[in-house]
Amino acid sequence: MKTCPVMTTTAGAPIADNQNSITAGPRGPVLMQDYQLLEKLAHQNRERIPERVVHANGSAAYGTFTVTQDISRYSVASVFAQVGKQTDVLLRFSTVAGERGAADAERDVRGFALKFYTDQGNWDLVGNNTPVFFVRDPLKFPDFIRTQKRHPSTNLRSPTAMWDFWSLSPESLHQVTILFSDRGLPQGYRFMNGYGSHTYSLINAAGERHWVKFHFKSMQGIRTWTNSEGNAVIARDRESAQRDLYDAIEKRDFPRWRVCVQVMTEEQAKHTSYNPFDLTKVWPHAEFPLVDVGVLELNRNPRHYFAEVEQASFSPSNVVPGIGFSPDKMLQARIFAYADAHRHRIGTHYESLPVNAPRCPVNHYHADGAMLASIPERGDAYYEPNSFGGPVQASQYREPPLLIEGDADRYDHRQGNDDHSQAGALYRLMNAAERERLASNISEAMQGVPVEIQQRQIALFARADPEYGHAVARKLGLAD
Ligand code: NDP
Repeated sequence: MKTCPVMTTTAGAPIADNQNSITAGPRGPVLMQDYQLLEKLAHQNRERIPERVVHANGSAAYGTFTVTQDISRYSVASVFAQVGKQTDVLLRFSTVAGERGAADAERDVRGFALKFYTDQGNWDLVGNNTPVFFVRDPLKFPDFIRTQKRHPSTNLRSPTAMWDFWSLSPESLHQVTILFSDRGLPQGYRFMNGYGSHTYSLINAAGERHWVKFHFKSMQGIRTWTNSEGNAVIARDRESAQRDLYDAIEKRDFPRWRVCVQVMTEEQAKHTSYNPFDLTKVWPHAEFPLVDVGVLELNRNPRHYFAEVEQASFSPSNVVPGIGFSPDKMLQARIFAYADAHRHRIGTHYESLPVNAPRCPVNHYHADGAMLASIPERGDAYYEPNSFGGPVQASQYREPPLLIEGDADRYDHRQGNDDHSQAGALYRLMNAAERERLASNISEAMQGVPVEIQQRQIALFARADPEYGHAVARKLGLAD
């Protein structure tokens, strides 16, 4: 027979009885001295941490990134050091709007958040399954998210709020088109692409910077549900994407993605008709072809959801030597907001938790603060500079300067921006059946929205392509 360990309190004292509370007589009240009962109740009260404001509902798996092509001409990042090199990763997928426990098979953007445990620190690429986003200025982000969440009075999701905001924010047109296209409802996390979405820098040994976008192409192929198929899935399985990912990995049917980059020189960036740092735009493949870099494979399920997925913390602020930021306004804001969210929802030392801890030496002076779990063995070297052998800076990791010109001002980010051409290009890639489903999905989502808002949005679709505007108007009974 299996020998079980003795159950203890959190302080390690053996527990003699885990079935019966201490009461004054068999019918009497419980006693305050029943510290096992108190500890159990108190712990249960603390079993939740604040869920993520966005991307609350998610699934994750561990895996490896393997370099297949040499890109050292662009980057000195150790993760790309040589063909065949492998780096451990954690990839968390999510939906954006739903709370923790929301159904997986809902039409929504999917998060695609990667942590590469590189030998020069963690590199987090916190992307989505779409190459663009709804807004380009971070000042609009909290407003946008409010429209995706619940109405303050009714506590219901509000299509009026969503379409009001989108129709007043033409920069959202491209992402709205993707969201309501077939790809807005993937069959599962294995069947969608991932995108780093922002523009980043790659920096090579000569200190030269190239701008880059990261793409992850599903090797399982793209598979999507229609709205009615999605509803049927939800009726029988609210955790369809979690189940699909978990089961595939348990069956050793490991999902894989081709990892590619698009590369733009600093000189080219000065001449594009669109702002290459605008998160609502893609870089056309014809001008900036995909360059293969490697393969990402997921091959291990987490053992404990709370420890390894709920506490997993990704932040675009985590870059490593050879990979840097760009002037993308949204990226700049996320560099602050993501790490700030984790300090709030997990705690000061969130990066020392096993799932977040780098797999390389970590040497800093940020010791004090809630939940310091290990003793910093630095003796007298607890500030910097010091004379006692504490960690010091290393100038070889200095980045080339990011040249930014211009007077500080609040520039109108919509002024002169072409928000419709790329949405129109996507529309024209779709075949007739795909266009038909796009228009149906939009009109379904617009039911009950005031006609004035519907018309304002239709005008935006029509700017992308007159046929697009007309198709949606027809579905809504606003055109013949
Ligand atoms: P291409 O024809 O070279 O590429 C089209 C891209 O669109 C492919 O990456 C394809 O993905 C993807 N795609 C197809 N259907 C959808 C959809 N419903 N939702 C999202 N992506 C889809 O064209 P361009 O590079 O010139 O871009 C044209 C348009 O394609 C863009 O305006 C943009 O809307 C969209 N797109 C472009 C991307 C880019 O980085 N250039 C990336 C994704 C979309 P796949 O190869 O996996 O089939």
